[in-house]
Amino acid sequence: MSKSQLKLTAALAILIAGVVCVWGVAAERGLRRAELERIARSLEARAALAGELARGTPFVPSARGALDAIADRAGAAAGTRVTLIAPDGAVLGDSDVPLERLPDLDNHADRPEVRAALSGRVGRSTRRSETVGRALLYLATPLEGGGVVRLAVDLSDLEASVAQLRRELVAAGALALVVGLVLCFAFSWLALRPMREMRRVASAIAGGHLDDRLPFAVSHELSDVAQSIRRMAEQLRLRLEEATHEKEQLRAVLESMVEGVLAVDAKGVVLIANSRLRDFFATSGDPLGRPLLEAIRSAELDAILRRAADSDAIVSQEMKLERPSARTLRVHATRFASGARAHTGTVAVLHDVTELMHLEEVRRDFVANASHELQTPLAAIRGFAETLLSSGSLSEEDRRQYLEVIERNACRLSNIVRDLLELSTLESHKQRLDLVAVDVAKLAEDLVRDAGPRFAEHRLRVQVRAEGDVTAQADPRALEQVLTNLLDNAIKYTEPGGEIGVEITADARCVRVALRDSGIGIPQQDLGRVFERFYRVDKARSRALGGTGLGLSIVKHLVQGMGGEIRVESELGVGSSFVFSLPRAPR
Ligand code: ADP
Repeated sequence: MSKSQLKLTAALAILIAGVVCVWGVAAERGLRRAELERIARSLEARAALAGELARGTPFVPSARGALDAIADRAGAAAGTRVTLIAPDGAVLGDSDVPLERLPDLDNHADRPEVRAALSGRVGRSTRRSETVGRALLYLATPLEGGGVVRLAVDLSDLEASVAQLRRELVAAGALALVVGLVLCFAFSWLALRPMREMRRVASAIAGGHLDDRLPFAVSHELSDVAQSIRRMAEQLRLRLEEATHEKEQLRAVLESMVEGVLAVDAKGVVLIANSRLRDFFATSGDPLGRPLLEAIRSAELDAILRRAADSDAIVSQEMKLERPSARTLRVHATRFASGARAHTGTVAVLHDVTELMHLEEVRRDFVANASHELQTPLAAIRGFAETLLSSGSLSEEDRRQYLEVIERNACRLSNIVRDLLELSTLESHKQRLDLVAVDVAKLAEDLVRDAGPRFAEHRLRVQVRAEGDVTAQADPRALEQVLTNLLDNAIKYTEPGGEIGVEITADARCVRVALRDSGIGIPQQDLGRVFERFYRVDKARSRALGGTGLGLSIVKHLVQGMGGEIRVESELGVGSSFVFSLPRAPR
């Protein structure tokens, strides 16, 4: 039973009980009054009869015998107790008391009904009789001779009917109460059904079940409310969908960003940490909802965010990470506010500038290296030219020697400038590579044949081996330069009597060229750097052999430009192996 139903039923119960009580008391009083009136009137008539009987007999103690006999007769005729009382209150006759006991009776002058009759009125009194021990109605009327006749009637019949009436009233009241309560309960249950249903649906909506609907048409008075609940649920569902959609969108954007994004609230608890940021710091577990230091474990980042939280400006700072991989991050952090609050949290965007820093370093090195590389031949040319100019007495042979040095260095300068120009063209993507089907084996064989005299001069044995169809999708001029540079290096860095092998193979996707030599080899620590510009293992040797240190850089650019890859394996004193791959030509 619901609370309101309980209240309604209790109110009705009190109402029914109240009405039954008031009505019962009124009915009992009315009945009692009417009955008493009726009995009193009949007593008055019987008193008049007794008075008639006593007429002529003086009300004096000496006439006690005659008066008692009259009282007995009148009592028998009236069917009630009849008492004859002298004007002074002495009892002179009583139908219920034997004559000889009359003198023992109390004087009756103080009885209320007798007192009224003695003063000339009809007196009436209802009280318990000490003599008979029951409720009695007394009625006394004055007599002409000066005495009083009093009649008494037992009221137990009246009390019985009143008790009967009370019992019936109680029974009727109880029945009315039960029927009333049942009806009230049934009606209220029916009346409150739509309310209950609405309450159920409202709490279902509050619990997040927005699709719950009122199952039946509710009564007219409540249809507006039901309609409002439906509209509210629909609105709520739409808002929720919108919010979810927006959240999903934001999440997708954050997750697809190359920058790391981190947001913390005013207490430093992580609100947002996208996957890029989690990768940077190799966080374990979900960082959301945890304090920054515990989730990210970077005191440096924590300090940057704290500074940003205390500042109005954007805080920018670089930080280095050692683990999980060496990285340089540039952090931009600023505090943000939402609503009326001045500081809701701090947001940081972390850019990975490792590559940028590396490129910057390479650029700096390049400028230094290029200047140095150009400086050396220029210094030689200047020095020898000055000597030639200043000393007039030079032998023809010295003069010729000096001029040769100048020519050699000028050649070097021109080679360096040529290679630099080539590299810069490649890097700026100005040179377009025309990719066509090239038979790599044929190209390699032609080149080896053309360079035959050089191999012979260095006493090197060379062999080209190709397996199956080795047609690659490549730019013939670029591929020729790649092979030429690699063969050139093999010749330069292999001692006389050594061997050079070109092995060409192909699989479904690419053509692979391996150029092996039995030369001096490259130390392990230099392997990763030989493709850098100006990087040379042995500067003096390279220079003496006319190298610029740019050959492998050009090779790498060209191979990559044609969609391939190149790597080097080498063992010091045993030989080196440069292996590159190119995409196969479509059949
Ligand atoms: P360089 O003009 O000096 O040959 P490269 O860029 O072609 O410049 O090569 C860079 C360096 O790599 C060389 O100076 C040399 O130390 C090393 N190198 C290249 N090819 C070989 C090889 N086949 N054997 C040994 N060392 C090599």
